[in-house]
Amino acid sequence: MKKVLVIEDEQSIRNVLRVTLEAHDYLIVEAVNAAEGLEKLLLEIPDIILLDLGLPDKNGIVLIQEIRQLSKLPIVVLTVQDSDSDKVEALDGGANDYITKPFSVPELLVRMRVALRHSPNAVAESKLFCGAVEMDIQAHLVKINSQLIKLSATEFNILKVLMINKGRVVTHNVLLKEVWGPNSLEHVHYLRVYLTNLRKKINIEGLEKELISTEAGVGYRLIDG
Ligand code: CA
Repeated sequence: MKKVLVIEDEQSIRNVLRVTLEAHDYLIVEAVNAAEGLEKLLLEIPDIILLDLGLPDKNGIVLIQEIRQLSKLPIVVLTVQDSDSDKVEALDGGANDYITKPFSVPELLVRMRVALRHSPNAVAESKLFCGAVEMDIQAHLVKINSQLIKLSATEFNILKVLMINKGRVVTHNVLLKEVWGPNSLEHVHYLRVYLTNLRKKINIEGLEKELISTEAGVGYRLIDG
C-alpha cells in the first residue's frame, strides 16, 4: 500500500482526497500547512506527496525546494487554474507533475501512478517505449506502430526528452535546456516550430489519437498508452 502525504490547507479538498484515495488503496497522511508537511515527511516517510501551492505559512514553491533538499520523493502539485507561471516554477523547482483544481479523479490517479513509477534509471536504457512509439537511442531510430519514421537530429532529441519523461509534462525550459543547451531559454519559438514538424512526422495514419499534448503556457507531454 502506497502512503500519500497530502499537504493542503482546505479541509474540503483534503476530505475529497482522503475518500478518493482510500477507495483506491492508498494510505493517507494529512498536513494542513508547510511546517506540518515537513514534519510528517520526516515522521511518516510517504511514497508520494500531493502539495497545494497556496499554503498559509509558506510559498509552495519554496516548500518544494526545501523538500528536494531532503528527498527525491515524487511530488504532484495541486494548483488552481490560470496560474501557468506557478506551474512552471513548481516544475522547474523540482515537482514531478501538477494537476489543476477542480481535478478529475481518474486524471489524479493517472498522474500519481506515473509519478510513482518514474525512475531516473530510464535514461540509461538504450530502447524506450511509449504506447505506439519505440525509440532506439543508440541506433538513432524511431518507429511508430512498427513503421520507421525519419526525424532530424533535433526532432529526435526533443522526442527523446519526452520519451524519458513519458506521461509527465516537460516544461519549455527543460526542453530548451536539454535540446539546445542552457543559453537557449529565451527561444520558446524554436519549440513551436520544431514541435509542429515533429507532430506532422509522427502523426502517421492509423493512430487513434495525438501522441503529444500541449500544456498551454507550461510545456508538452507525451501521452503514455
Ligand atoms: Ca490553499
